[in-house]
Amino acid sequence: MAVDPLIELRDVNKYYGTAHVLKDIDLTVGKGEVVVVIGPSGSGKSTLCRTINRLETIESGSIRLDGRPLPEEGKSLARLRTEVGMVFQSFNLFAHKTVLQNIALAQIKVRGRRREQAEQRARELLDRVGLADQADKFPAQLSGGQQQRVAIARALAMDPKALLFDEPTSALDPEMINEVLEVMRQLAHDGMTMVVVTHEMGFARSAANRVVFMADGRIVEDRTPEDFFTHPESDRAKDFLSKIL
Ligand code: ADP
Ligand code: MG
Repeated sequence: MAVDPLIELRDVNKYYGTAHVLKDIDLTVGKGEVVVVIGPSGSGKSTLCRTINRLETIESGSIRLDGRPLPEEGKSLARLRTEVGMVFQSFNLFAHKTVLQNIALAQIKVRGRRREQAEQRARELLDRVGLADQADKFPAQLSGGQQQRVAIARALAMDPKALLFDEPTSALDPEMINEVLEVMRQLAHDGMTMVVVTHEMGFARSAANRVVFMADGRIVEDRTPEDFFTHPESDRAKDFLSKIL
C-alpha cells in the first residue's frame, strides 16, 4: 500500500560546530504512519526531532511537510510549529497555570480561538487522555504520568498534522509509563502521524509501522518492527538490541 507522504527528509546534514550530528538523512513518514526511532545515546534522535520541527537549522538537504518545503523563519515558521506538535521528556507545562489553562492558552494566542471555544476543546481533549476531572488542578498536583498526558492534550489542541515524541516516558516512574503509552497507542489507532523516540520496545513492536535505528548520526536500518527485532542486519543494531532486550 502506497502511503501519501507527510514528512519527507532528503539528504539532510546537520553540524554543531565541527560535529557532524545528522548524516545524509533520508526519511519519509506517511500520513497516519507511526515511526519509532531508536538508537544509542548521542546518535542524533533528539536532533532529528528538533530538525523536523525547525527548532534546529540544517546545513544541507531538504525537509518537506505535506508537500511543502519547511520555512526557514518568520510567520510561516510559527504556523509550522503548530502543524507539528512536540512532546518532550520533561513535560514543560506552565507551573502557574491550571491544567485547563495550559491546554487553552496556545489555542487562544496562536490559533486565535475565543476563550470559551478553547476551553471547550481543552475539556474534550482532557477527556480523551483520561483526565476530565483534573482540569482545575495545577501541574504540581498531578503525577508525572498525568502531566505528560496533559502535555499530549496540549499538543493535540493545535490540531497538528503530526506529533513528535522525544522519549515521552523516560522521566516517569515505571508504574506511570503504561498510562502514557496507552494514550499514544490510542492516537496511533485513530490515525495520527507520529514520530516517537523511545526505549519502550513493547510500544515499538505493537504500535509502530516502522522502526528507524540510528547510530552516529545515520539511519542504519529502517524496517518493519517484525523484521527489525527478529533479523537486525547491522552489527550496530544487533549490539544495541543485545544490550536492551
Ligand atoms: P540522542 O537524542 O540520540 O541521544 P542528540 O540528538 O541529543 O542524540 O545528540 C546528537 C549529538 O549532537 C551528540 O553528540 C550530542 O552531544 C550533540 N549535541 C546535541 N545537542 C547539541 C547542542 N545544542 N550543541 C552541541 N552539540 C549538541
Ligand atoms: Mg535524545
